[in-house]
Amino acid sequence: MPFTLEPSYDDNPRLRTLVADLRRYLHEELIPYERERGLTPETKLDRATLEHVWKRSRELGFYGVSLPPELGGQGLSLAELCALKEELTASGAVLSHSVLGDMGGPLRAGSIVKYATEYQLEHYLLPVIRGERACCFSITEQDAGSDVRRMTTTATPDGDSYVLTGRKVFSSAAPFADFAVVVARMAGTEEAYSAFLVDLDSPGCRVLDGEVPMSGQQMEGDLDFDGCRVPAANLLGEIGQGLRIGIGRITLNRLLHCPSLIGAARRAWDLSVEYSKSRVAFEQPLLALQAIQHKLADMATDIYAARSAVMATAARADQGANIGVEANMCKLLTAESCFRVADQAVQIHGKAGLTRGHEVEQIFRTLRMFRVVTGTSEIHKNAIAKSLI
Ligand SMILES: Cc1cc2nc3c(=O)[nH]c(=O)nc-3n(C[C@H](O)[C@H](O)[C@H](O)COP(=O)(O)OP(=O)(O)OC[C@H]3O[C@@H](n4cnc5c(N)ncnc54)[C@H](O)[C@@H]3O)c2cc1C
Repeated sequence: MPFTLEPSYDDNPRLRTLVADLRRYLHEELIPYERERGLTPETKLDRATLEHVWKRSRELGFYGVSLPPELGGQGLSLAELCALKEELTASGAVLSHSVLGDMGGPLRAGSIVKYATEYQLEHYLLPVIRGERACCFSITEQDAGSDVRRMTTTATPDGDSYVLTGRKVFSSAAPFADFAVVVARMAGTEEAYSAFLVDLDSPGCRVLDGEVPMSGQQMEGDLDFDGCRVPAANLLGEIGQGLRIGIGRITLNRLLHCPSLIGAARRAWDLSVEYSKSRVAFEQPLLALQAIQHKLADMATDIYAARSAVMATAARADQGANIGVEANMCKLLTAESCFRVADQAVQIHGKAGLTRGHEVEQIFRTLRMFRVVTGTSEIHKNAIAKSLI
């Protein structure tokens, strides 16, 4: 895997072909599709628009590409998946989150596949992989974020089902999902949590519009459970395994968010270079100023460092290593350094970069969120220190 600023993928013919095909799809189909429909990152997306992308990405072999061949994928390594994810956000496509299935698709379901029964695979996960159904993952509550053990959503066994009561907030993809992976506390216990596959049209379950985060994207929803009955067959894994399933998924997701942030930072770098060439101040392009060159040098160095750490960690995970600590380090390093890159990009763009709706302003707001989302930087530091000291 090359550790360069502009990855070439020359040492991996399969990846080189996939990246070339992906770039072609993004620039020749997806971005024109978005332009025709006037989509911006803040557009409230409807299911039909997303389904179009899921289906087309599936036809082209991108949707679920990292899954093993028996599940319809190409069995990509994590490092290869990271490379594709970086390419997606580096393209600037608004719907890049739906091409590999991050938003409601196979990547959102993630590693839970390994806990699924035959029934769950057949009815829930395989349809997600085919782009026919969509899912969200719900653990966070209003009063339980980093400290997930404070959750109050409960599951009460009742005959051959469980009854869910409580509310989850900020579930990405909930507005267009068919079912959720919900982690709930077993009623009457202090520390037993379980994970359930919950159909979002079940009686007693409501999907509510969530708060709109600072990125302006309208992809989060809240789930309200008021005596929602979930069949026992929808228990994922075993009773009491809920946090292990949830947090296991989060560890891998922490690593897999990193290339998306790096791609967005790379896009901010590209835009900054272009802008510095064309913007003239004091009789010369900005690019001729050493102060601007230093900013670009810092940005490139941050991107290179983040990618190097992420690719090294992905490669170690591909060799079967436990990457618990490294995933936290990668997310911490990447979230902080990519946000610095976005900040520099705004600075280079001057008032243009401060203008609502400018692409670097959008990237700045989006990257700011990732110092909190999927684990705050402080929680990553806690985890790193706890493991090492
Ligand atoms: C856009 C978006 C999408 C999201 N998607 C999902 C999703 O799909 N599914 C889902 O379940 N959740 C999702 N979340 C929730 C997200 O994962 C949480 O916001 C995150 O885990 C932090 O929790 P919190 O916001 O409640 O902050 P808190 O946990 O309340 O933290 C507040 C501050 O206190 C600090 N802090 C807390 N505890 C400690 C400590 N022990 N040591 C040091 N500092 C500490 C934190 O670092 C932070 O700075 C999403 C959130 C957003 C904004």
